[in-house]
Amino acid sequence: MTVREGSLEAPTRHPIDWKGKDFYDEKSCFDEMERVFDICHGCRRCVSLCNSFPVLFDLIDEGTTGEMDGVPREKYMDVVDQCYLCDVCYMTKCPYVPPHPWNLDFPHLMLRAKAIQFKKGTPTEFRDTTLSNTSANGKLASIPIVVQTVNALAHNKTARAIGEKVIGIHKDAWLPEYASKPFEKTHATSKPLPVKNGAKTPGKVAIYTTCYVNWNEPGIGHDLIKVLEHNEIPYVVVDKQACCGMPKLELGDLDSVAELAKVTLPQLANLAREGYAIVTPIPSCTLMFKQELPLMFPNDPDAQAVKAAMFDPFEYFVGRNKDGLLKTDFKQGLGNVSYHVACHLRVQNVGQKTREMLEMVPDTAVNTVERCSGHAGTWGVKKEFHEIAMKIGRPVFRQMSEHPKANSGQGGLPDFVASDCQLAGHHIEQGMAGQGDGKVAHPLSLLAKAYGY
Ligand code: SF4
Ligand code: SF4
Repeated sequence: MTVREGSLEAPTRHPIDWKGKDFYDEKSCFDEMERVFDICHGCRRCVSLCNSFPVLFDLIDEGTTGEMDGVPREKYMDVVDQCYLCDVCYMTKCPYVPPHPWNLDFPHLMLRAKAIQFKKGTPTEFRDTTLSNTSANGKLASIPIVVQTVNALAHNKTARAIGEKVIGIHKDAWLPEYASKPFEKTHATSKPLPVKNGAKTPGKVAIYTTCYVNWNEPGIGHDLIKVLEHNEIPYVVVDKQACCGMPKLELGDLDSVAELAKVTLPQLANLAREGYAIVTPIPSCTLMFKQELPLMFPNDPDAQAVKAAMFDPFEYFVGRNKDGLLKTDFKQGLGNVSYHVACHLRVQNVGQKTREMLEMVPDTAVNTVERCSGHAGTWGVKKEFHEIAMKIGRPVFRQMSEHPKANSGQGGLPDFVASDCQLAGHHIEQGMAGQGDGKVAHPLSLLAKAYGY
């Protein structure tokens, strides 16, 4: 049989068979890794995407035979550990994804290996589980007095050195501060406005705030509300939110993902069925509801209803504009904005809607950088990965620092550094080594500013 180089059909994605009898079978998973790694060895397109592929190709090239049979199986997990499930290899590079007969899904194979590893337990289990308890951490850290202490410790060199040694969080990695008043306790309430549905967009919005915006940077949520209010779009804030589950998924802790989904999916599905667009300001959380949970629960009507109603905020606003229902009465130009497209937005396949929206603002020049920043959720703050995360991000740090319109067209520093993923934005700020300090602004905050808020 002749096997084509790429597939002519649109890529599809198979459900994650995490309840299947072989899913946690280590031999079966390693057999599949051997098959897939061998295909990657012959292809090597993804070598520049992350560190998984260079690690794999080094293992092969430096092995006894120069082929997969020269790589001991106990080394396979070295490749898995470098994958932070950004999905970019699957969504943007790989010609062998289904329906191609080679049926290759590199990220979900890494997820399966991580799930097996998680069940067995690892030496970093305490740190990894603690970091991924985003909601519990937020609740604890935002208690008055505790919040000041936690924030002070994050900037204290001695405490950070101890933290690296004892817990394994890299002493130099940027860590988010906690807000003293979370979004859920401070957000405005929508006026009773009429619902104007468009062909592309429902006329009312349910805000799934996300753990990060709720506990760490509520200002992003307040800015989202300002933009909605300015455009006379009625909204509700999803009550008593649980985490979307992405930090647990990245660990391979699928049972915890399922527990969280029991809370989030019924609640969000009710809003979806009431006709709300569900908008989340962090792309990883949006992706979780658009892709990972529907693939984990393919037969769950709630998961499918939520998927259909879920919007990236700029996907929503650009759609609203196409519906003729978005105001463009901008009061203020934004100057030179270096904008980073987060991987978890890129793989949603909605196009560069944030760039499109920011470019509608007069007196604004957007320098778009579409490459992995290396932060990748909690991965980039871990002791063993932080330096690699900074190395992966280096081309991004450079491109963000070289806005083509700055310094009278000679290329130079931007007025704003923006990423759809605010964690990536701060990681980029750190990588710009002082040149981006104080310039990080989430695109939603920039949009609110352009409207004059
Ligand atoms: S999903 Fe991302 S991190 Fe994982 S192998 Fe693919 S490109 Fe690398
Ligand atoms: S994931 Fe696909 S595109 Fe990337 S190296 Fe492997 S076979 Fe090639």
